[in-house]
Amino acid sequence: MPKSFFIDTSRCTACRGCQIACKEWNELPANKTKQTGTHQNPPDLNANNYKLVRFNEYLENGTVKWYFFPDQCRHCLQPPCKETIDGYVQGAAIQDETKGAVVFNAKTQKAPFEEVLNSCPYDIPRQAPDGSIVKCTMCNERVTRGLLPACVKACPTGTMNFGERQEMLDLAGKRLAELQKTYPKAILADPEDVSVIFLMLDEPNKYHKFAQSQGVGDLSRKQFLAQIFAPITRPVQRMGQLKS
Ligand code: SF4
Ligand code: SF4
Repeated sequence: MPKSFFIDTSRCTACRGCQIACKEWNELPANKTKQTGTHQNPPDLNANNYKLVRFNEYLENGTVKWYFFPDQCRHCLQPPCKETIDGYVQGAAIQDETKGAVVFNAKTQKAPFEEVLNSCPYDIPRQAPDGSIVKCTMCNERVTRGLLPACVKACPTGTMNFGERQEMLDLAGKRLAELQKTYPKAILADPEDVSVIFLMLDEPNKYHKFAQSQGVGDLSRKQFLAQIFAPITRPVQRMGQLKS
């Protein structure tokens, strides 16, 4: 059964428990970093941080408003990163058929990092020192054993939720309806396209430039992606034809 996250940012306190739990579970080393005047640290996702609590603040009518956004891979239902990688090397990006997790392995060293990054609507993949491309794994090895993802297990506020996709969609819809009574701009980000569904109380770009997939005019995102990736997959098909 496909799984999904529901991330309710209205409950997030920016404690960063999820961020630390992710580092610990994945045995990722510390980053050399420095204070830049914001609670957000490190400044961006990197090969040692698959999860990052983004932090923005705005002054509105004399009141400071905080926007917290626990960023991570969305495990897209039709992942454009995988389509890009498949155009160069087969088996480097795998989509788990039952759970929907999109997982990269060391073979991604053979895929062009910038192209893979540019294909992601959410600016997620990062390059490790050995040249491989890395990101959140949905804690696939934990979930396979019936455990929650480490970030969900660690969250003390109910922000991070994980379970059967329909169960998460129902929870997200219910929570959205409740919150829209007080916050009319509240939305769910791209719930039909991703396995990691964020609820935000205000305009998505106040949380993060890539909180929601970029608009592509009259085309649906899937149509748009199908168009831009067609030229990438063709060379591989041609190679296959030449070999046979
Ligand atoms: S969010 Fe980006 S990296 Fe994650 S599955 Fe979607 S396209 Fe791939
Ligand atoms: S699912 Fe696992 S790998 Fe992904 S952000 Fe959460 S703890 Fe990190």
